[in-house]
Amino acid sequence: MSTVEADKELSVYESMAARFDVAARKLNLDEGLTKYLRTPNREIIVHIPVFMDNGQLEVFDGYRVQHNIARGPCKGGIRYAPNVTLDEIRGLAAEMTWKCAVVNIPFGGAKGGIVCDPTQLSTGELERITRRYTAEILDYIGPERDVPAPDMNTNEQTMAWIMDTYSMHVRHTVTAVVTGKPIDLGGSRGRREGTGRGCMIVTDQVLKRFGRQREQTRVIIQGCGNVGGQAARLMHEAGYRITGVADMYGGVFNPHGLDVPALLEYVARNRTVNGFAGGERIGNMEILEQDCEVLLPAATESVITSKNAHRIKARILTEGANSPTSAPADDILFDRGVFVIPDILANAGGVTVSYFEWVQDRQGYFWTEDMVNERLKQIMVAAFNDVVHYGEKHHVNNRIAAYMLAIDRVAFCLQLRGIYA
Ligand code: NAD
Repeated sequence: MSTVEADKELSVYESMAARFDVAARKLNLDEGLTKYLRTPNREIIVHIPVFMDNGQLEVFDGYRVQHNIARGPCKGGIRYAPNVTLDEIRGLAAEMTWKCAVVNIPFGGAKGGIVCDPTQLSTGELERITRRYTAEILDYIGPERDVPAPDMNTNEQTMAWIMDTYSMHVRHTVTAVVTGKPIDLGGSRGRREGTGRGCMIVTDQVLKRFGRQREQTRVIIQGCGNVGGQAARLMHEAGYRITGVADMYGGVFNPHGLDVPALLEYVARNRTVNGFAGGERIGNMEILEQDCEVLLPAATESVITSKNAHRIKARILTEGANSPTSAPADDILFDRGVFVIPDILANAGGVTVSYFEWVQDRQGYFWTEDMVNERLKQIMVAAFNDVVHYGEKHHVNNRIAAYMLAIDRVAFCLQLRGIYA
């Protein structure tokens, strides 16, 4: 049982820590190691001065938290949003350590963010914020140190600016400093779809266990950005029936199945699903509680909590977003028999293809899309089986199993390396 005080339920860090504590206890993890792995290695706070288009000088707060490097360089996204907090970045950085260990790729965990509202910023302002943020954290990132990637409200263009800024400082082009870049600048084929594809691969594995066909499976997706939009497209193409999609402005629901290509075309033109004519309008929280087999939150954190978990009707929860479920909601979902594919497994397709991108950049040799997709599938299926078998063996739910597996792998490396003093 995870414990989080009621007023801290929405804290990403508290939920991560509560799950960590349960898993560490079950593993009988040494007290000192528990303390060490519960806390991040380094937290960087920067204040970024930027000239706005109107000539005024503005200052933005930015963070980069590096949680652990026991298994390799840090890896983790950078997000831009008005509600970014250090606590949230700290929790997400730790989750990256566990995620990389679950899929067994040689990275530790990090996360970054800038407190800003990208909807109110011009492209020029975004570029200047990104470049100055990069310059401020320059000593701490690099292909062997910490490799950022896109996250909420950042994209291939943001990564191109970071790569260029870093390269200008070190005086040669260093493509492997970030992943999620445009393909022409050292990006990987299949990266854009990697997270959504990974969500589909692990959902397929659950259907296989349940003896269920994709065609009989209704899917509701919250979020229609990189993760949700790609998951909707790929799952629709594979035969799933997508009955609901929502974004921050509202949602659309059609029990017979949405015309996903038309919906995505509408989103590309209007930047929202709101107003799409192929279904009835629905609220972006209300959509989570509709009848379906698969619920795929792919928007933001803490949307499933102790307040609404008992109203979730889905049988399978594929966590495309990071930390969409609070720790107190875990037990409610477990009691209701929901098969949860936890975020550190379900959305690990993104970091896995990022790993492929880093490998390709360092080799200067680029793979075909089929090679990327095939290798992604191998890793996701192996990780799914590892987590489910670990859970069965230790009689714990999938989330705690994923944490135990990850902590075990990281602790093993730490013990081999020893503590430098
Ligand atoms: P994005 O910015 O491309 O898209 C986010 C989507 O969520 C948008 O459609 C937005 O309108 C919607 N949204 C935001 N707040 C919402 C709310 N309260 N209700 C409903 N919809 C809301 O971001 P993304 O890259 O798709 O990331 C989404 C989530 O997936 C985040 O939690 C991110 O950390 C996680 N994630 C992303 C990747 C990746 O490769 N991009 C990898 C792993 C995990």
